[in-house]
Amino acid sequence: MNQQGILVVVSGFSGAGKGTLMKELLKRYDNYALSVSATTRQPREGEKDGEDYFFVSREYFQQMIEDGRLVEYAQYVNHYYGTPRDYVEKKMAEGKDVILEIEIQGALKVKKRFPDALLIFVTPPSAGELRRRLVGRGTETIEVINARLRRAAEEASGMEAYDYLLINDEIDACVEQMHQLITLQHSKTCYHLDFLSRMREELYHLDDRQ
Ligand code: 5GP
Repeated sequence: MNQQGILVVVSGFSGAGKGTLMKELLKRYDNYALSVSATTRQPREGEKDGEDYFFVSREYFQQMIEDGRLVEYAQYVNHYYGTPRDYVEKKMAEGKDVILEIEIQGALKVKKRFPDALLIFVTPPSAGELRRRLVGRGTETIEVINARLRRAAEEASGMEAYDYLLINDEIDACVEQMHQLITLQHSKTCYHLDFLSRMREELYHLDDRQ
């Protein structure tokens, strides 16, 4: 059996509750590793460098791109965000399922490069609820909230590119659904090619002996 972990991409509108969902998933199950992205945006109140993000300058980010140190990157509301390659490769090799919590442009790049990746889109039950959550979070100015809502409207057109849709109405149920989707993904034939060819080989030789 293939012991390598799988790549899971989780996207969703800003304010969909992805952060809480990820924290809860990691708390409940130990087979996951959450990738920490690099970003050029400023830390929010309470965010820690190296934990929530690697907060870097535009120059440093540019250098990471040039050195091929990012699996993917994208621009989102005036800032750059990217997934560092080292951590992803290391954790997958250790057998962990690596979760990338990234926006849609990056998700599509990952799907192109890693067609076996699992793509999940998380959304609140309605647009009104999304706005309420963003305002209620109180971490952004109204201008930034409006820019993020405009971006959500753009992103909504790409939702079909994802394998699954998760409606985050009730956090507990949503965490369990996500875990089930990932668990199921492990059974896909694409992750068991060695097993399949060994089985074919064995069957072929069984036939020989008869
Ligand atoms: P925030 O500023 O709210 O932390 O993140 C803004 C958006 O950037 C979110 O949709 C988040 O999923 C996305 N994002 C975070 N890290 C990455 C990354 O490494 N790559 C890409 N493409 N998007 C990211």
